[in-house]
Amino acid sequence: MNEADTQMKKNLKPETLITHFAEEREKYEGAVVPPIFQNTLFTFESWEAIDAAFDDRVNTSIYSRGKNPSVTIVEQKIAKLAGGEKARLFASGMAAITAAIMHFLNAGDHVIAINNIYGPANNLLSVYLKKKMGIETTFVSGNNLDEYKKAIRSNTKLIYLESPSSAIFSIQDIEAITQLARTRNIKTVIDNTWASPIFQQPLKMGVDLEIPSCSKYIGGHSDVIAGVVIGSTENMDSISVNEFELLGSKIAPIEAWLIMRSLRTLPIRMKAHEKSAIQVAQFLESHKKVESVSYPGLESFNQHKLAKKQMSGFSGLMAFKLKTNNLTEIKTFFNSLELFKIGVSWGGHESLIYAPAISYLKEMSREQFIAMGISVGDMRISVGLENADDLIDDLTQALETIQ
Ligand SMILES: *Cc1c(COP(=O)(O)O)cnc(C)c1O
Repeated sequence: MNEADTQMKKNLKPETLITHFAEEREKYEGAVVPPIFQNTLFTFESWEAIDAAFDDRVNTSIYSRGKNPSVTIVEQKIAKLAGGEKARLFASGMAAITAAIMHFLNAGDHVIAINNIYGPANNLLSVYLKKKMGIETTFVSGNNLDEYKKAIRSNTKLIYLESPSSAIFSIQDIEAITQLARTRNIKTVIDNTWASPIFQQPLKMGVDLEIPSCSKYIGGHSDVIAGVVIGSTENMDSISVNEFELLGSKIAPIEAWLIMRSLRTLPIRMKAHEKSAIQVAQFLESHKKVESVSYPGLESFNQHKLAKKQMSGFSGLMAFKLKTNNLTEIKTFFNSLELFKIGVSWGGHESLIYAPAISYLKEMSREQFIAMGISVGDMRISVGLENADDLIDDLTQALETIQ
């Protein structure tokens, strides 16, 4: 029995399995890091050998748009980490989301989705799939089971969740929703980017497919764009020969290899993000220039109890509202930060800040924007891996610029 088969049988904890699981070092002269398979195709010894390969094509390396060993090893690690049977890596989180959604839907089907999902996923459902395939989506706040019950139609095929959502951190009761879905023959998909498989295991709560964007915590070094879909062998094998191979959004072997590098430290990085994020959130909550902080890890968070019930930890993305509404003052605060870099995205080693007003003010007037419950003083920060005291010092000096 080779090393990989032995590891398959053991019930390894996350910190151990990311180092050892699915590695077949005896095949690579014992190299401690597997090589990058930078090749388009794989050759066979005979007619019979390639003929047999096609009989099991989802599990055999034939052509790298389908399967490549540098990619497979990472997929095996992520599937195991998330408590799923199989995983497939995609070129981006959006490619993974598109494949997962398309997998369960046919023209004319109906979807229920929460109303604060990731913007491009919302666009895919509410605009693109509606226009191209007549798929209708009912958006719900997601916080109350009755909303889903009321929204279900005879042609409802999918409930799409994002918990916690990356916009307002809304938490959905995953077990209650998947139970309801199963009784009505409806499939469930969840965007698990915020918590990552380290802090939340939705497949164990009955979700059919889980998608974390690997561009955030799983990659973690701000050097890879990728996504992954995780689920049962049945669903994943079907996705492999359909959405994966036909849409062709495969990940490059070197990017899969970079994710493998990142996975080695994912559990310890998540714990470090959590520790610093709680310190930063508590600091902001007690600061006199700050109106409120939105972070599922705070006891003051309105869904903290449910968050604690279904997650084992909290990541580093949060939002807070400044007391001031003076745009000049807000910009001075924003521009005074030195360690928090200005930019979109999150989940990397570096701390970031972004103000939703920058995007919204392009699309609507300040009055419309305020009517939506958003304020120019709303800030979103991603707490990175720097020292938390340094980050708090940086926020302190920037907050001092506000009168
Ligand atoms: C970034 C993000 C995605 C999309 O991931 P990409 O790799 O950028 O395509 C999906 N969901 C959430 C919550 C995200 O933050």
